[in-house]
Parts: sequence; C-alpha cells; structure tokens
Amino acid sequence: MRIDRVAYESFTGWVDTPHDLRPAVDGNLTCEVAVVGGGISGMSTALRLADRGQDVVLLESAFCGHGSSSRNAGQLAGAPGGDLQLLNLLSRKKMPGMMRLAEHAASHVENFIAEHEIDCDYEANGNAFAAVSRGQMGRVRRVAKIVRRSGGHVEVGTSEELGIPRGFVGGMREVIGGVMNPGKFSLGMRQVLFRTDARVFEQSPVTSMARVPGGVVLTTPHGEVTAKQVVLATNAFAGEWDITPKNLSVPIYVVEAETEPIDPDRLTALGWTSRMGLVTQHAIMENYRLTDRNTIVFGVRRLERGTSYPLPEKTPDPGLVSELARGFARRFPGLDDVEVERAWGGWIAITSSWLPVAGKVGDDVYYSIACNGHGLAQAPYVGTMMADLVMDRARPADLEVLWHEKPRYPRPMMMGRTGLRMIWLVDRFNDMVNGSRRNAQRALESPRTSTSSRHVDAGHR
Ligand SMILES: Cc1cc2nc3c(=O)[nH]c(=O)nc-3n(C[C@H](O)[C@H](O)[C@H](O)COP(=O)(O)OP(=O)(O)OC[C@H]3O[C@@H](n4cnc5c(N)ncnc54)[C@H](O)[C@@H]3O)c2cc1C
Repeated sequence: MRIDRVAYESFTGWVDTPHDLRPAVDGNLTCEVAVVGGGISGMSTALRLADRGQDVVLLESAFCGHGSSSRNAGQLAGAPGGDLQLLNLLSRKKMPGMMRLAEHAASHVENFIAEHEIDCDYEANGNAFAAVSRGQMGRVRRVAKIVRRSGGHVEVGTSEELGIPRGFVGGMREVIGGVMNPGKFSLGMRQVLFRTDARVFEQSPVTSMARVPGGVVLTTPHGEVTAKQVVLATNAFAGEWDITPKNLSVPIYVVEAETEPIDPDRLTALGWTSRMGLVTQHAIMENYRLTDRNTIVFGVRRLERGTSYPLPEKTPDPGLVSELARGFARRFPGLDDVEVERAWGGWIAITSSWLPVAGKVGDDVYYSIACNGHGLAQAPYVGTMMADLVMDRARPADLEVLWHEKPRYPRPMMMGRTGLRMIWLVDRFNDMVNGSRRNAQRALESPRTSTSSRHVDAGHR
C-alpha cells in the first residue's frame, strides 16, 4: 500500500470546516440550562431542551461538530462497544440493559436522520464484528451467544454468507445500524440546532466553572454564563475541570485513514456485496468501511494515550498511518497498490468499565460519557435522555443502566502507554499465529460463491 502522499488532516477527511461560525460569548448572560460541548451529544441535549421550550445556552470551544463527532468512521452500531465477553463477565446483569440501549440508540439516530432529512449518505446495512482468523470466528460465535441472550439481534455467517470481503473468515452482523458520513451528520445536526431557539455560542471554550448561590458560573475568554443547571458533554475533554469526577475517563487519540478512489470493478471483486461496516475482533479493533466516493476508510489498530489537558490539536503520526496500511494490506491483499490519500484523528473517552456512564455532581451539574469509541449512536440518544432528565427530574429507563449514583470511578487499567503497547503486541502475535495471513491469501485465490445461496444463522430473529 502506498503512503508517500498522505494528507495529514487536523480536522477530518469527511467535511470541510464550516464558514458560518456563531459568535463567541461576549459579556455576561444568564440561562436556565447551559450545555458545555457541541458534539452530537451536547447538540442533542440542547435540541431536546429547546424543543421542550427550555431556556438553553450551548457553549462550544470551536464549532459544533468539531470533536470526534465529525471525525469518526461513521459506523452506527447496534450493539454495545468494548469487549462484550469481558463486559458479560464483569457486568452480566447490565448486559440486557446495555443491549437495549445500543439498539434504541441506533434507531434513535436513524429516526433523527429521517425526521430532519439529514443528507449524510446513510446506508442501513448494519455493521459486522468481522473475524480475521478461525480464532476470532470462535470469539464471534461466543459474543453472538451473549448478545442474543441479552436480547440483541444479530446474524452469524461466513464471509460469503454475510457478503463481506474474502480476507475475513466470517462474522456477526448487527441487524440494526449502518454506515454514514459522520461529518455531514454532525454539521446537519448543527443546522437543525441553529433553527431552534437555543442560544448557541461557538468559539467559546469554558475555562472554569464555579458554584454560586442558585447556580453555576461558566467562564469563557470574553464573558460569563450563569446557569441554574449545567450539562457537561465534552467527551474526552471532560477531565479539564475540578468539578468533573476523578477518573471519569481516559483520553485516547485514534486515527482513521482513507484510500484514494478505487476502480468500482476492483471493489466489486472484493465480494463486499453487503456494504456493511466491519470491526475486527482484536483487543484493539481495526475498522473498515466503504464510502460513497468509492474509497475505503479504515482505522484504529493502535491507541495513543493523552497525558495532559487541554488535549492538543493533532495530526496523525505517519508511523501510525503506516501501521494502519500494514493492516489494510493484510486484509485486502488485492489492493496492495492502492494509495492512502488522507488521514485524520480524534480524541475519544474510555471509561474504566468500558461502559457508557452518566451521573450528577451535586444538584445542578449533569455529565455523561456515552463514548468508548461507540458514541455515534449512543451519544445523541444519551444526550437526548439527559435533557429529559433535566426537565422531568426523573430518569428515562434506558438511562438507568449507565447511571452512577455516586461520582466515584476506579482508575482505568492497562490504559498507560506500556499497557496499550502490550495489548497491541498481543494482537500482532495473535495475527501471526492465528493464520490471518492465510485468510488473506484465500482472498486472492478462491472464487467467490454466489450470494444468492446465502444461509445465515439468524438466531432468535
Ligand atoms: C477516529 C474516530 C473513529 C470513531 N469511529 C466511531 C464509529 O465508527 N462509530 C461510533 O459509534 N463511534 C465512533 N467514534 C466515537 C464517536 O465519534 C464519539 O463517541 C462521539 O462522537 C462522541 O460525541 P460527543 O458529542 O460526546 O463528543 P465530541 O464530538 O468530541 O464533542 C465534544 C465537544 O466538546 C467541545 N469542548 C471540549 N472542551 C470544551 C470546553 N472547555 N468548552 C466548550 N466546549 C468544549 C469540543 O470542541 C467538542 O466539539 C470514533 C471516534 C473517533 C475519534
């Protein structure tokens, strides 16, 4: 794979920076509810509050959609993120609730796209947990069992049966969800928000927060906002303030890359007939998806820990892109002459349980982190429920499963540089011994069986 002409982007490869930035806070103002952070989470909270007639101010440090909301791979998942076998082991009782939350979240986003006619190239084809080796396929089957027992809807099959590329052995398809252009989705949501009565201030980083009688004062470079209640929706940036619970999450930088446009005949030859998004079963996943510009977006494979706040604006490390290209070449050996055209990255928040969390500090500051790399579906849904909670003072049922009564969190494990390096090494070792190279070879050699003979194990569905 060729990587000598990569454009290293500091924002995203999906969309350009918008030109219609809203002005910064200038002077002092008051409101009932202030939302901090204009990603798909914070925008969803502000939207719901405005729809319900609440006096709401949204403060965003750059522009709405500037964070991971516009930078992600665009895979709208219908299952929880993280290692589901481990989650099942540690939090078995929570699994049905997490499953329900994940499926409801994906449907919520699909409905939002339809209701507001957001042009974001959404394809409701589902996503697959894809296995690169027989070892990973065993894991997929175990995960499918857990998902079904928890009430989730998935199908298990070989690559031919699922219509995913031959470099993969097979996988588990999440029936709900699909792929989109997340940049267009976020900026589309931003326009929907602009049409409401919510007061949106961009270019307004909140630098400090202080309690005063009857509310909270949020300081920005050119003015202060005094709010009766505050919702924090700053994702990986949440550790900036003293008010945020300690160890709430760890900031991790992850990278996506995009190929040059590929000849449609060569894409057809891959046998990727389902056009599903794919995530591998490594401890640190690889993701692959087709786009409507005939490119493949692929990423993650290695995680970089953020060490101090404020988190820096970064471009991807070329070494990491070359690492991603090595993974790509393994999964798609027939495309080894294809060029990587661009790469970008963003900050995600990983919680100690790898589960989304939400809670309250005192009576007036609400927070949620619905991310762990799976927030495209869950962040808007949780953001909407947070607004309902603020309005009704009662938790919607799907919020219950992530609610933390006390804002206390254990230190996340294996999230230091050495820990992350070790996890990466284990993945590479497993790649070596589990024969994922043999599967890749199979992709080059074997003719594809007809998809008309699909026979997929659809479990309880
Ligand atoms: C490369 C990458 C790939 C991913 N792939 C997927 C995927 O395929 N599927 C999936 O489900 N998820 C994926 N994710 C995760 C997903 O993008 C996130 O979970 C989701 O976007 C989180 O939304 P958010 O609104 O919570 O956070 P963000 O979009 O990060 O929004 C937080 C906002 O807060 C603002 N902010 C921060 N500090 C302040 C401050 N002091 N004052 C004011 N504003 C502030 C930031 O500017 C930002 O706009 C990926 C993430 C990345 C980075």
